[in-house]
Amino acid sequence: MSKTESKFIGVDVGGTKILALLVDDDGEVLGRSKRPTQQEGQPLADQVAAVIDDLLAATGTEPGEIAGIGLAVPGVVNSQTGELVHAPNLAVDDPWIAERIRERYGVPVAIGNDVNLGTLAEAWHGAGQGASSVVGIFVGTGIGGGVVIDGRVHVGAHDQGGEVGHMVIVVDGPPCGCGNLGCWEALASRTAIEREVRKAVDAGRPTVLAAAAEEEHIRSGPLGKALKAGDEVAVEVMTRVAHYLAQGLLTIKHLIDPEVIVLGGGVMEACGDFLMPLIEAEVRADKLRASREGPRLVASQLSDDAVALGAAVLARSEVAELAAAAACACPPAGEEPTAAYPRLDSVSFGVVVVEGEEIPNDIYIRADGKLGKRKKKAARKKYGTSHVVDAEELQKVCKGQPRTVIIGAGFQGMVRLTDDAKEFLNGLGADWQVLRTPEAVEAFNAARGPKALLLHVTC
Ligand SMILES: [Zn+2]
Repeated sequence: MSKTESKFIGVDVGGTKILALLVDDDGEVLGRSKRPTQQEGQPLADQVAAVIDDLLAATGTEPGEIAGIGLAVPGVVNSQTGELVHAPNLAVDDPWIAERIRERYGVPVAIGNDVNLGTLAEAWHGAGQGASSVVGIFVGTGIGGGVVIDGRVHVGAHDQGGEVGHMVIVVDGPPCGCGNLGCWEALASRTAIEREVRKAVDAGRPTVLAAAAEEEHIRSGPLGKALKAGDEVAVEVMTRVAHYLAQGLLTIKHLIDPEVIVLGGGVMEACGDFLMPLIEAEVRADKLRASREGPRLVASQLSDDAVALGAAVLARSEVAELAAAAACACPPAGEEPTAAYPRLDSVSFGVVVVEGEEIPNDIYIRADGKLGKRKKKAARKKYGTSHVVDAEELQKVCKGQPRTVIIGAGFQGMVRLTDDAKEFLNGLGADWQVLRTPEAVEAFNAARGPKALLLHVTC
């Protein structure tokens, strides 16, 4: 597949709408489809598939033309397995949505957090274009953030990277929705703004926001208008918010020192004219000396498309990574395998090449060097999917006391171990690792001493 022919689909799976974009290799949007998110009934994966099908039909695109699909979700994603761990704003629970979309379309499916991916899009195609490090800050009901370094989202070791809204800015400050005290979003989000405006109204202070404060939420629009009109309460509350935002940005500056900080979200969009100069002045006045002036503070550029576009960018980089990993899975030329194990030449979608022979199947290799085809029926029968490995299956694979056990969890890392499987491996006294299939091939080839492999190649 040549670069210019690649098309990707990015899907923003939101609490109120599902937006899918068809995007070419350069991030150009070729088409879009949108449907409201149903909060009950239809499984989420089916809802997403319906929007993707709309998009394919509307743009006259065959599923075979799609190189990869990216999903952006409002929640915590396990970056190792692709599991959607926690999504409070999605009433329809579907933890393995990425796997189900992949099964349906037969292409690599990447999944990530929506704010991270919004930042990724700004870094590739928006306000942070060309910068090597970009932090995105989105001020709305809460404060979301994302960190992109060298074109990749920094998700951290436990998928908590970029959770800037919960940096503690005031020790023992006001309570945050997360349970901690004094978090950034408890001080500078719309939720905090509402709280402060209501406090002023309750104290009898005159403000044009008095009526808005009686509604469930004070929307960004009236807030922006109150600022323009010079409303005393609005100006006071938002000046304080600008101070808190700037103080948080100083911490980000000192921790990450990004080239660009992109500021977006409803509050920034409505009140940016007021907030930006205050924030900028305070960040510039940083007393801590740096070698050069920075970072650049810029307003987000991509608005409603950002998250879906970021999902497409994620899909594109995962597809490129998989291709690179498959290409370098062979041992260096001239080097003979040192043990009596079959040599894994390469792996691509649906096929692993062992000693020159193509095997279109999951495989295992035991410590004694025996290679066999994995019987996926057993797992399907017990768990409804071949993506579960239990202790019973591992006992067969791990005969002969391997010192290293490698489990190749598929190209998207979808295979998971049952608790009893992990217990079994821990009891084995071997080093064991669950890796994505291309990395697993590399790790198995590189491992010395008695070793065993279970490799998921195809469903
Ligand atoms: Zn918090």
